[in-house]
Amino acid sequence: MAKIHSARQRQGDKRWDFTVSSDEEGWCHPTGYCSGFEHPDEVDRKSEEQGWPKMRQEERDKTLLHRAKFHEDGHATAKEASDCHDDYELDFELRFSENPDEMLKCASCGDFTTGRCTVGTFGRYVLCRQHQTRDETKKVRDADRAARQR
Ligand SMILES: [Zn+2]
Ligand SMILES: [Zn+2]
Repeated sequence: MAKIHSARQRQGDKRWDFTVSSDEEGWCHPTGYCSGFEHPDEVDRKSEEQGWPKMRQEERDKTLLHRAKFHEDGHATAKEASDCHDDYELDFELRFSENPDEMLKCASCGDFTTGRCTVGTFGRYVLCRQHQTRDETKKVRDADRAARQR
């Protein structure tokens, strides 16, 4: 099933949320920080009722660490909603890894490296160990998007 990730405007108050949706199945709900804060204890309680697994410790820790960023009041513009989700991906969905089979140029410094970075659903970059940080990932992703828009 194809899920769509996009900023969408609410029917009611015209505010924008970053959402995940499925046209085929006819549902759409806010995701990431736009979905509001729910305490991990409460999430686990509901999961238990459904027989679903508990939150991973890492996700639980991050949710509490960044709890102030969660909100339900939407955004004034689509851009703001997208930026909100970019921030969420950097906080929750940033992974660094190595591909020992292939040396590629680091997107930051140009040195050959086996280092890799994934962020969110679509971000795939080459980053050497030295540049495997949240800040560098943000820079590289912003630059990559700007280049694609040309
Ligand atoms: Zn938001
Ligand atoms: Zn580098």
